[in-house]
Amino acid sequence: MENHEFAQQVKDIKAALAHSKGDQILNFDGLCLFLNVKLSENFKIPDIEKFKGTGNSTSHVRHIINTLKPMGLNDELIAQLFQRTLTGCGLDWFLTLDFTKYEGWQRITNAFINQYAYNVQIELEDVFHILEATGDLKPLQPKFPSNLAQKGGEYCKYHQVTGHSIEQCGALKNAVQDHIDQEIIDPTKLDD
Ligand SMILES: [Zn+2]
Repeated sequence: MENHEFAQQVKDIKAALAHSKGDQILNFDGLCLFLNVKLSENFKIPDIEKFKGTGNSTSHVRHIINTLKPMGLNDELIAQLFQRTLTGCGLDWFLTLDFTKYEGWQRITNAFINQYAYNVQIELEDVFHILEATGDLKPLQPKFPSNLAQKGGEYCKYHQVTGHSIEQCGALKNAVQDHIDQEIIDPTKLDD
């Protein structure tokens, strides 16, 4: 894995952790995607990097909101523009949605974030491997002999026991968050 990729992944992790702490800005209750909202013909969508199915979906939604709100666009207009911030697999996924089931911007946004949640889960494991390699984080002492613990079910490399996957590991999430808080993980320094 390239360093700059890892740096991006750490940023994504940070965003995911912030999201999981209940730092919610996505509150578009009751907003319908198909209101008769019209953008002016010559409106040019600002330079938003399109989501193509990789990266952090929550960050993408936030980025859209943070870019378009200051331009004076209301929620309805932002919802209208959402499709135009997608490309490749991201757009393919969006266009297969049954919009009769995903009425409203909030539901579509939630479906979008959930659809791509695995992008972040993979990254949590990657971050663990890097921190382990740098010696900043060590696997916890297993409570059971590892040959017994590994017999079946999902295995957590951090706890070294079965019962949950590393992606679901709350203790690891907290440990990574601690490292970010203490600025042991500095994405900018990894990017050289
Ligand atoms: Zn664990």
